[in-house]
Amino acid sequence: MAVIKVMDELLANKIAAGEVVERCASVVKELVENSIDAKSTEIKVFLEDAGTREIKVVDNGKGMDATDAVLAFSRHATSKIDDEEDLFRLQTLGFRGEALASIASVSKVELKTCQEDIGTLVLINGGKLLKVDRGDARVGTSMSVSELFYNTPARLKHMKSLYTELSSITDYMNKLALSKPNIRFLLSNNDNIILRTDGSGNLLKVIQSIYGNNVARKMIRIENENADYVISGYISLPEIHRSSRNNMVTIVNGRIVRNYEINKAINEAYHSYKPDNRYPITVINIEVDPSVIDVNIHPTKMDIKFSKMDSLIDLISKTVTSAITGRTLLVEGVKKEEKPKYENMMLNLERHGSSVKEPEEIELPLDTLVTNDFEEIESDIKEREEYEKTKEELMPEMWPVGLVHGTYIVAQNEKGMYLIDEHAAKERCNYERFMKQMGSPTLASTALLFPIMIELSNEEFIILKENLDILRNLKFKIEEFGINSVIVKEHPAWIPSSNVDWDIRKIIETVINTQKEFSIEKFNEKVATMMSCKHAIRANTNITLDDMEALIEDLRKCKNPFNCPHGRPTTIFYSNYDLEKLFKRTGFDLKK
Ligand code: ZN
Ligand code: ZN
Repeated sequence: MAVIKVMDELLANKIAAGEVVERCASVVKELVENSIDAKSTEIKVFLEDAGTREIKVVDNGKGMDATDAVLAFSRHATSKIDDEEDLFRLQTLGFRGEALASIASVSKVELKTCQEDIGTLVLINGGKLLKVDRGDARVGTSMSVSELFYNTPARLKHMKSLYTELSSITDYMNKLALSKPNIRFLLSNNDNIILRTDGSGNLLKVIQSIYGNNVARKMIRIENENADYVISGYISLPEIHRSSRNNMVTIVNGRIVRNYEINKAINEAYHSYKPDNRYPITVINIEVDPSVIDVNIHPTKMDIKFSKMDSLIDLISKTVTSAITGRTLLVEGVKKEEKPKYENMMLNLERHGSSVKEPEEIELPLDTLVTNDFEEIESDIKEREEYEKTKEELMPEMWPVGLVHGTYIVAQNEKGMYLIDEHAAKERCNYERFMKQMGSPTLASTALLFPIMIELSNEEFIILKENLDILRNLKFKIEEFGINSVIVKEHPAWIPSSNVDWDIRKIIETVINTQKEFSIEKFNEKVATMMSCKHAIRANTNITLDDMEALIEDLRKCKNPFNCPHGRPTTIFYSNYDLEKLFKRTGFDLKK
């Protein structure tokens, strides 16, 4: 009887393993979550070959007695639900209680744990309990899972490349570290450290550990609240952006979640400060009454819904917008030197012999990376915020001295040298002018000497006919003219006389294409962006010093003089110090 029961359970575990243990990352996640539950303040994850050979998690948590250590691998060992917080976690993780049993059924497990000075050692192979013995007295738990899927070759084939396995584990650990700055984390692969945090509770330090010094010093601290939510965290200056949204991290009541609308709101707040298809680095902590969170959370995707979404989006939008607008956002031409970071070691996947020491014994000096540079980062940020408080102008006064390739203005002032992209600068000036004129309630119109006739497809014609009011509100005089055609007799006065024909056709195209979820702000914005480019000086156009001076003066008056409407930088700054450094005038004996 008993044997059959065990067989059944083994089979059930193996089947379940196929569902819950997909990747090395799911094993890491399960083990690390257990360590967090055990109230660990230090969690070290050691991988061999991206976890495909071995995953070892060592913590300093409360440990288990022998009975619990064996029971942990039973299929029906469910975690206790103590409070609402636990319920939230259960819904987020979905499969708790079965995971360890499943993992043990498809791997070789060695568990060393200790409670009240009594150590326990448990060995399991492919779900079979091999050994339960007295172990060393130690603090916390060490769990090693090796040769994952060794007894289920079909699953083994499904494992992705080492690089994919490692990057998904790294991604998980990075986010966990961001959500738990009070826990000291270590992640290594084949003895190369990938991530190390100091558990000091300082979120900026965690950001530094993950992204490096140059990103950390370009972060802006945010903090705000309304009746429903309290938010805090860091967002990057607009010049720091990445190709993926993956670096936009949202943490709700201490748990990492994903929410499309939040990311969208943040990205929109950065609109025209960076290219729309690039994404900032953000870590936003949201504190909220748990009852406001929708219970229908997707079990694995970490999606979350809020019942007061509008209130949250409004708070986030306002906070991010006010954090980045009104700042001096000059992009520096010379980046500060950066020490090689763990990130660079990630690709080193080759196994180089077995280590002399047991991994859990490796002592990790904290001082080397984090503390020294961190003081410098903090003082850089402080200096920048101090400047923001006391500065008189958004963009400093500067004087043109020449033009490179008819494209880049070289300008200077007492602080250093500036390169200004002529086209981008003009585009920004045009854009702000058009936006202002389009938004003005007293629009004047200009009659066309030769009315412009525009032929459309029947479908376009129908869409346009339904939306003629948009154009009429903008002071266009536009009428139907025969089959599928319209005639434009007057246009708003802000459209310059050059290229009128092109402008009008493009505006009509925009009306036809922005039909879905029409918003006048977005429409104006689109039209202004398009026209600002068309009416800006092209590259390779020589202009006089006087023209350059006028352009710089115009640019300096803009609300955001630092980016073209497409989010490209207008101005790159080289400080006197940077120039001296480039020419090795600093730190050298100048007399020679
Ligand atoms: Zn352009
Ligand atoms: Zn542009």
